[in-house]
Parts: sequence; structure tokens; C-alpha cells
Amino acid sequence: MVYFVGAGPGAEDLITVRGLNYLRRADVIIYAGSLVNPALLEEAKQGCRIYNSAYMTLEEVIAVMEEAEGEGLATVRLHTGDPSIYGAVREQMDELDRRNIAFSICPGVSSLFGAASALQIEYTLPGVSQSVIISRAEGRTPVPERESIRELATHQSTMVLFLSSGLAGKVKQELLAGGYHTDTPVAVVYKATWPEEKILHTTVEKLPEAMEGAGICKTALIVIGNVLGNEYQKSKLYDASFTTGYRKKANDFNTD
Ligand code: SAH
Repeated sequence: MVYFVGAGPGAEDLITVRGLNYLRRADVIIYAGSLVNPALLEEAKQGCRIYNSAYMTLEEVIAVMEEAEGEGLATVRLHTGDPSIYGAVREQMDELDRRNIAFSICPGVSSLFGAASALQIEYTLPGVSQSVIISRAEGRTPVPERESIRELATHQSTMVLFLSSGLAGKVKQELLAGGYHTDTPVAVVYKATWPEEKILHTTVEKLPEAMEGAGICKTALIVIGNVLGNEYQKSKLYDASFTTGYRKKANDFNTD
């Protein structure tokens, strides 16, 4: 059996309880060495075989899983954040399916959420934005034109860009071409939840210089939007003048 486990964004105690249990029971661990906190590997049991996938191809990863399966062993494939976001898990699952190797997936705390906690923000503020666009600038992996940052920017939703910290100049151009104001707030979170976490507050206009000045060119998320500002409406959920399924509005006397 293969367990795809989300390791969380960095801090070792941000793996889920389930994920940690799988990790402790694993006979084989294949971890994404570039971003998974190595402290998590200390949870491995004695004799566990540990592989760093940063040095491996897809074929090599699958070969390790296949061999372990042949010996009746449990493999944990430890991915950073949550496996479903830029995790390259689909291709692994398809290979396992082809070999009739069973697998299950344990979700993790994505860096998307690690960054929000670091910034102490809410991505979805009433009166500002009720949607979060998760995307990336085009690098080696092509992005369909209809999903270019320029196109997505027209929604003026909260936007969180993965894998784009080396492309800040292009990100700025695309955001402006898509209609963002030069002074729209932007935050960059480097290594959210790690001890070396860094936060940068800037604007669309100043993004490239600010990132360069701070020396941030990888392992960061770029958060764009007015949810980083001060204006918003309070939620209806806790508004005294609204009735909800759990609570009647303040002047709602009577009834059942
Ligand atoms: N599955 C992961 C994302 C993997 S793609 C997740 O859910 O978080 C790798 C990209 O994720 C990095 O280039 C960076 O943009 C982002 N990333 C991963 N960990 C991060 C962290 N702790 N802080 C900021 N960005 C992070």
C-alpha cells in the first residue's frame, strides 16, 4: 500500500495526526527533499528505507514503490503542503493504477494556508473578494492562455501565486495588464511556518524591486489583493441583526 501524505507547509507540527501515524508506521518513505522539513524523518521507525525524491525521476519513484509493494511493505510518499496542489501526484497515481498497487491520500496543510496564518489575514472578505484564485506564472510548465495571470486578474479576486517568485517582473506586468492598480497591496511569504519565514509587504508596482531587495526568489507565495488592505464589511454570520440556523436575530422574539 502506498500512502500519499501531505507534510504541511514547513513547521514539523503542521502535519496532520493521520499523516504522522502513517509516517511512523512506514517501511519506506519517499520524501520531496526540496521542501519537506527533514525533522519529520526523525519520526521514521528503525530500519525504514528513506529516499529523497529530489534526486529521482518518476520511473525511479515508481520502481521503489513497486519493489516495496512486492515485499508487502507500506510506503509513504511525503509531499510538501497538500499533495493536490502542484504536487505531481496524478502521474504517480496513474502509474500505480496501471500496476494494481493500492494507494490512499492523506491531505496536508497547504502553504496557501500557512501563508494566510503567517500574514494573519482572511482570503475571503465580504465586500472585497469572495474567491481565491490559485495559480502560477508561466515558467517551464505552460499555462493555458485563458488562465494567464492577465486573464485571471480581470476578476480582481484574491490571488495566490505559487512557483512564481523567480518571475516577479512578469507577474507585475501581467497584473497591471489585467487591470490591477499599481498600488494594489501584495504580500510575499517566504518559507511560511519555517523558522526562517520572511514576510514582505509591498504593492504591484514595487513587487520586483521589493523581492530582489529582500533576496526572495524561491519557496515563496505571492498574495495579491485588497484583502491585504483595511477596508471590508463585517460578516453576516455574526451580525446581530441576522437570524441564522443557530441563532435568532436580536429582535426576533417569539416563534416556535
Ligand atoms: N503542494 C504544495 C505546493 C508545491 S509547489 C503546497 O500545498 O503548498 C512548490 C511551491 O509551493 C513553491 O515554489 C512555493 O511557491 C510554494 N511553497 C511551498 N511551501 C511553501 C512555504 N512554506 N512558504 C511559501 N511558499 C511555499
